[in-house]
Amino acid sequence: DLVLSFETSCDETSVAVIENGNKILSNIVATQIKSHQRFGGVVPEVASRHHIEQITGCIEDALRDADVTYDDLTSVAVTYGPGLVGALLIGVTAAKAVAWAHNLPLVPVNHLAGHIYAARLVEPIEFPAMALVVSGGHTELVYMPEEDKFEIIGETRDDAAGEAYDKIGRVLGINYPAGKPVDELAHQGKDTFKFPRAMDSDDNFDFSFSGLKSAFINTVHHADQIHEELSREDLAASFQQAVVDVLADKTQRALKEFPVKQLILAGGVAANKGLRERLTKEIASFKDTKLELVPLSLCGDNAAMIGAAGEMLYRHGARADATLNADPGLEFEWLADEAK
Ligand code: ATP
Ligand code: MG
Ligand code: FE
Repeated sequence: DLVLSFETSCDETSVAVIENGNKILSNIVATQIKSHQRFGGVVPEVASRHHIEQITGCIEDALRDADVTYDDLTSVAVTYGPGLVGALLIGVTAAKAVAWAHNLPLVPVNHLAGHIYAARLVEPIEFPAMALVVSGGHTELVYMPEEDKFEIIGETRDDAAGEAYDKIGRVLGINYPAGKPVDELAHQGKDTFKFPRAMDSDDNFDFSFSGLKSAFINTVHHADQIHEELSREDLAASFQQAVVDVLADKTQRALKEFPVKQLILAGGVAANKGLRERLTKEIASFKDTKLELVPLSLCGDNAAMIGAAGEMLYRHGARADATLNADPGLEFEWLADEAK
């Protein structure tokens, strides 16, 4: 079983070939970060243009690296949401064209299901499972009773964790994306500022990071005004400790209410060293739950993860036809509607 998978939801153009849903034969990722950095973030029009320029070469490279031809393929999988509409459309259109030209089934994939299913490229996922998805656009706790059921039990009410990293990074003079450099700075400092941990003790699984971001920015601006020099390391460490505290606390609360066999840490922010260390320590006390950290190389956006989710969805009969459209606001189901 060979899936040709596409990912173009944001600022990486990626095409992969995945065997049996769990083996990467190729995973081409063309990043556009340099083109967006001078604007301090992803510019949708620029992203779309890059995707158009890169996509054909990525398909050719993915097939060549995997040493397969179109005739060997079983299905085509593509991210159709959530993400930037103009960016998603390039991948969706390319996938539709390949599926139509080679008479292959087309499987629509939710980008966040892809982030979660990246775990499968290392080890089989055991169900029921829980995923903490932390990325540039999302912070969600997703309960999976079975392999094709994704139910949101909590999410951020405002900024995503990655977005908060990128915004406070800018105040420290760090270029987009700031997550990794802030993580590195944090490891050289101490939590001296004691920033707020919003909603930490609330009886729900939701998050909020905008208050933390504002507290951080106000602290830096106030120090600027009185010409006081603050430690960048301590600022980063204090910010990261606040983020990691609420993520770890809410995840533990969720695991108590929804006992699972596996906890998956996924998404771009899952590359965070502080978060990986903290969850490894905390989950050790949940004897029946195994922690699955998506490997660093697969935390960011890539098509391999879309192929991993796509193969599973294909087995469950997910199909799209030529009318498939990008769905920029695509969401999972809520476990209970009143939860929102
Ligand atoms: P989404 O997946 O929600 O659609 P996205 O695809 O843009 O959003 P990803 O590419 O999954 O997001 O993740 C990118 C984010 O991860 C950026 O905000 C980046 O700063 C953050 N990030 C990357 N490495 C780290 C790290 N070590 N620590 C914290 N954040 C990180
Ligand atoms: Mg990205
Ligand atoms: Fe992503």
